[in-house]
Amino acid sequence: MKEIEIKHVYKHYPIGNKEKFTALTDINVSFKKGELVSIVGESGSGKSTLMNLIGGLDSQFEGDIFVEGVNLRGQPDKMLDKYRKNKVGFVFQSFNLIPHLSILDNVTVALTLSNVTPEEKVQKATAILTRLGLESQLKRKPNQLSGGQKQRVAIARALINDPDIILADEPTGALDTGTSAQILEIMKEIADEGKLVIMVTHSEKIASVSSRVVEISDGRIIRDEKNKKYKKSKKTSMPKIEKSVKSENQKLSIRSAVRLAFHNMWASKTKNFLMSFGVAISIVALIIMLAFGSGLDQYIADVSHSFTNPNIVTISKQGDDLIGAFIHDPFTEEETQNLITELNTALEENGYEYRVTEEELLPGFSSITGMGITVNFNFPEGTEILPGEDGSEQTGETEVSYIYTTPPYYTDVNLIEGTLSGENEVMLTPAAYSIFNQLLGTEDVIGQKIILTVQMSGLDQPFTQEVTITGVIDTSVIQSVLAMYVDFDFLKSVAVANGLDPAAFPITTYYIDTDETTAAFLNDYIMSSSNYSGSIEEGLTSMFSEMSNTISIALTIIACISLIVSAIMILVVLYISVSERTKEIGVLKSIGARRKDIRLIFTSESFLIGLLSGIVGIILALGVYGIFVAVLTSLLGFAPLSLKWYYFLIAIGVSVAVSMLSGLYPSNKAAKLDPVESLRRE
Ligand code: ADP
Ligand code: MG
Repeated sequence: MKEIEIKHVYKHYPIGNKEKFTALTDINVSFKKGELVSIVGESGSGKSTLMNLIGGLDSQFEGDIFVEGVNLRGQPDKMLDKYRKNKVGFVFQSFNLIPHLSILDNVTVALTLSNVTPEEKVQKATAILTRLGLESQLKRKPNQLSGGQKQRVAIARALINDPDIILADEPTGALDTGTSAQILEIMKEIADEGKLVIMVTHSEKIASVSSRVVEISDGRIIRDEKNKKYKKSKKTSMPKIEKSVKSENQKLSIRSAVRLAFHNMWASKTKNFLMSFGVAISIVALIIMLAFGSGLDQYIADVSHSFTNPNIVTISKQGDDLIGAFIHDPFTEEETQNLITELNTALEENGYEYRVTEEELLPGFSSITGMGITVNFNFPEGTEILPGEDGSEQTGETEVSYIYTTPPYYTDVNLIEGTLSGENEVMLTPAAYSIFNQLLGTEDVIGQKIILTVQMSGLDQPFTQEVTITGVIDTSVIQSVLAMYVDFDFLKSVAVANGLDPAAFPITTYYIDTDETTAAFLNDYIMSSSNYSGSIEEGLTSMFSEMSNTISIALTIIACISLIVSAIMILVVLYISVSERTKEIGVLKSIGARRKDIRLIFTSESFLIGLLSGIVGIILALGVYGIFVAVLTSLLGFAPLSLKWYYFLIAIGVSVAVSMLSGLYPSNKAAKLDPVESLRRE
C-alpha cells in the first residue's frame, strides 16, 4: 500500500508584489513503508520545500498529497497538528534541539505535548536513547554533545511517538563522514523496521546505499530509481515503540506547560530575576500605598473618635497657616457677638431648636508664647536639678511652648497618669513629663510643685503662681510638644487677682455643650466655615485627611506608573524572548504543537514572571514597610501604616495580571509564527 501519494503538486512562493516564484512544478511521486528514499539535487532545487509539504508544515500548495488515502490539502490546522504529532517525525540538518532542556526532556517533549505520564515518557525516551548509545547523556544539555550525538538525540525525538514517516532534511549535512555513516545506518534500521524514511542528502555515497533515489532539479523530478542492490541492515535492534497517544484529544497539560516555561526561565535566570526585581518595585509601591491608605485612615479615625466628647462643639478663629490649625487669636467682643448671630442663623435655617447665648459659650484658650500669654516655669527654691548628659549644669527654668486650658471634652479617659487638674494645678503632656523627670532625676514627677511665671498683655509685671503637677494627659497629636494644661477659670482668677482687667483675658476658643445631633451639625458647620476652625483634634483630622488623600493619590500614581513601566518591560523582554526562540517554536510546531500549546507555554512563562515578581515584591515591601515604620515612629512618634494579610494576595494578583496581560501580545506572536519560516532561521 502506498503510504504517500503525491499528484500534480505545484508550490509557488510569493515574492515582492504579486510576483511569485515556482519552487515545485508538477510533482508526481509515491512512497511505500519500508523504503529509505534519498532525495538529491542541487541547492535551491526544491528539496526542503517538498519535505515541508509532505510533513504538513506548509499547507499552501496546489495538487494533492495523500497520506494513507487522506488528502493533506485543505485540511484545517488542527488536523495537520495531529498529523505532525502522530504520523511524522522530523530530523533537521542543524539538529534543532531545544538548548535549555536536557537530552531526556528534548526527546520527551513530543510526548509532553500529548500529556503522556512522566513514567511512560521517561521509560520510552530512555529505551530509545539507550539504543542510540546515549544512555550516559540523559541529563546533559545539547551543547555538551558532539554533532553526531546531537543528531541521534534528534532521531530519538522523531521516533518517540512511533511515527510511520521519518522526514530527514540533510541529517548528515553538518557531520563528518564517519559520523554520517553511523546516522545512515540508524536510518536504514528505521526503514527496515517498516517505516518510510525520506532523507534529503547531498552525498551520492549515501544516496547510493539507500533503497531509492529521487533527484530534483529546478522543482521537477528528473530521476526516480530503485536500488536493486539495497541490502537490509544487519542489526534490527531498534526497540519496539508503542504509540503513546491513544486518544486524539490528549494535549499539553497546564502543568507541563508551566514546567517547560520554568525550564526556559531557569535557563536565563539572571535576566528573569532582574526583570522580576523591576516589576517587584511597582508591587512594593502598591503594597505601601495600601498600607498608608488604611494606616492613615485608621489613625485619623482613632484621633477623631477617642478624644472628643460628641456633645461638645469647639470653635476657634481660623488661623491662616498650618500652625493656625492649633493656635488662634483671641476673640474680640464684636467677634463673639458675630459668632453667636452666625451660629443661630445657621441653626434656625436648618431647623434646629437650640440657640447659642453668650452664657452658653464656655471660654477657653489655646495660647502660645508671644500671642497674649508667655509662661515660664521654675522649680521652687532648693530643688535639686541634675546636670545634663554631658555633665553641663542645667537650670530648671524653661519656657513652655504652649499652654492650653483643659478642653471640656477631656475626661479621665484622656489621662495617662494622675488626675485632671483644677485650682493651683497643672497637667503635662508626655513630652513635658519626661523632660521634668529628667531634670529632677525622678521616675514620676507628679506631685511636684512648680512655679509658673506668667506674662500677659495688659499686665505691666509678670506674676508668679505655685502649682502642683497632677497628671499626664494623652493629647494624642501634640503629646510630643512641651505643653501644659491649666483650668481656664483658675488661670483667669489668678490673672485678675494680679490686676488684669477681666475683659482683657484672652478667649481664643469657645466650647458649646449641647446635644449630640446639634453638636454634630455645628461641628460640621464650623469645619466647613472659612472663618472658624474646630477642635485641635478635628483640625488635625481634616489636615491628616487631606494629607492622607494627597499621599494616597501620589502613591497610587507612582504605583500605576511603575506598573505600566513594568508591563512594558515584561512585554519587551517576552517579545525579545519570542524572537530569540523562533527556532524552538518551529521545532515544537514540527513535532505537533498547536498554536494553543505555544500560547500556553508563553502564557505560563508570563504567569511565572508575575508570580516571581509578586513574591519578590512582597519580600521587598516587608523590608520597606519596616523602614517606614521605624523612620516615621522616630520622627513623629507614630507610623500611620498598617499591613493587612490580603494586601499580599492583591499584590500577587496584580503582579500576575499585569504580567499575563503584557504577555498576551508576545504569546500570540509566538503562537502565530510560521513553522517553515521559523525553522529556516539560523
Ligand atoms: P533546497 O532545499 O533544495 O535547497 P528549497 O526548497 O529550500 O531548496 O528552496 C527552493 C527554492 O524556493 C529556492 O530557490 C528558494 O530560494 C525558494 N524559496 C524557499 N523558501 C522560500 C520562501 N519562503 N519565499 C520565497 N522563496 C523561497
Ligand atoms: Mg534545503
